Amino acid sequence: MKVMKFGGTSVGKPERMHEVAQLITRDAEPKIVVLSALSGTTNALVEISNSLSAGDRTAAKEKIDLLEAHYRKFILDLVQQEDKRARANAIISEHFEFLNIILRISFSEALYKDILAQGELMSTKMFSVYLEEKGIDHMLLPALEFMSIDIHEEPQLLNIRAKLNQLLQQHKDKPLFITQGYICRNAKGEVDNLKRGGSDYTASLVAAAANASVCEIWTDIDGMHNNDPRVVDKTVAIKQLSFDEAAELAYFGAKILHPTCIWPAQQENVPVKLLNTMQPEAAGTVITKEAGSVGVKAVAAKDGIIAIKIKSSRMLLAYGFLRKVFEVFEKYHTPIDMITTSEVAVSVTIDSDAALAKIVKELEPFGTVEVEKNQTIVSIVGNEIEQTEGVLPRLFEAIREIPVTMVSYGGSPHNISLLLPSGHKQKTLQLLNKGLFGL
Ligand code: ADP
Ligand code: ASP
Ligand code: MG
Repeated sequence: MKVMKFGGTSVGKPERMHEVAQLITRDAEPKIVVLSALSGTTNALVEISNSLSAGDRTAAKEKIDLLEAHYRKFILDLVQQEDKRARANAIISEHFEFLNIILRISFSEALYKDILAQGELMSTKMFSVYLEEKGIDHMLLPALEFMSIDIHEEPQLLNIRAKLNQLLQQHKDKPLFITQGYICRNAKGEVDNLKRGGSDYTASLVAAAANASVCEIWTDIDGMHNNDPRVVDKTVAIKQLSFDEAAELAYFGAKILHPTCIWPAQQENVPVKLLNTMQPEAAGTVITKEAGSVGVKAVAAKDGIIAIKIKSSRMLLAYGFLRKVFEVFEKYHTPIDMITTSEVAVSVTIDSDAALAKIVKELEPFGTVEVEKNQTIVSIVGNEIEQTEGVLPRLFEAIREIPVTMVSYGGSPHNISLLLPSGHKQKTLQLLNKGLFGL
């Protein structure tokens, strides 16, 4: 069994969907194909929800109508037979009827999740109609019947495996399954999702659950690049990464992968390949247990970081102080990304301001608390980076003009992380591209 995931741009145009159909029928291995929503759809659904929650029904209605027009046009080019067009249009009508009904009911968090789920539901159903037109034998596998998260919003691999395998067993003769990325059910049984970019996570979970031979992530670029191609002009694809390296890059901002999507594949040792739908013959990036080489492989940046510094000459050295500090973050379900300590202060970073005010209030009795927003973590990732000679001098020489405010080194053998004001991110990534990669 092979898992193939196609992201938003890979299904964002009718001709792209036609290409996807070709890619998934190139060999005879049974497949589970995970699809994202058409590019732009999830953003549009977020905007519709924002208008609704702000009470602006007129704006929400306008956005719904625009989105519907996009889907009607899409269908005209996707399928040619009249009966298939009628089927596809009927499917889309159902989803837009739902969106129009919600205009009249009161907005809630649960409704928000339902709205966000429409994109993946529509893309998979439309693709299924196209496969039917082409006479390609397949079955739609509803993600909401097997993909679940627990009360901590963590996917439950054991449950997912049990439910998925039951469904696969019931349809053993099918060579091809199509399912939705991103969407799932939560502990209350409501529709929920795996957070933005979550279709990668679905693919990795499905691949682990089904003991797949490979998990292919098809996107709009030929693999993981050594630097952020949105920020830096000259970047190159990396041939091979270890699971650990890929996980660090994803977590620290390489948008090509969802931040926590690597662990399921890593746990079951399923190789992950990053491939380009627009250039299917390109080698892409292979992610396996082995790193292939040592030394610096890539840099990535994560924005929206908040630094919190707690200064307390009295308490810092007392044992139990750090535990008390960490308990505050635990209480508010806020993970800490970076941490540094000195004799008089401890600095940590977090990536969400959801509970910031409450956290600061509870930290204040411990000492002086300073908060710095709009920070960026730049991570330099590579296998055994710590043991690679000359990395630190090259790194700091390259960015001597950048006001780095925190450094994390030694926590992971694959990662050196720097904190800097976000305004310096672009320059930093450019300087590192020259200094570390000669690009
Ligand atoms: P999809 O819709 O297929 O999930 P994404 O937009 O989520 O695609 O991810 C692909 C994009 O990730 C690329 O177009 C690229 O701009 C961005 N990206 C950021 N950092 C990297 C990197 N280090 N290597 C490759 N792509 C990256
Ligand atoms: N459609 C969702 C998003 O845009 C999930 C994904 O594409 O991975 O975030
Ligand atoms: Mg993505």
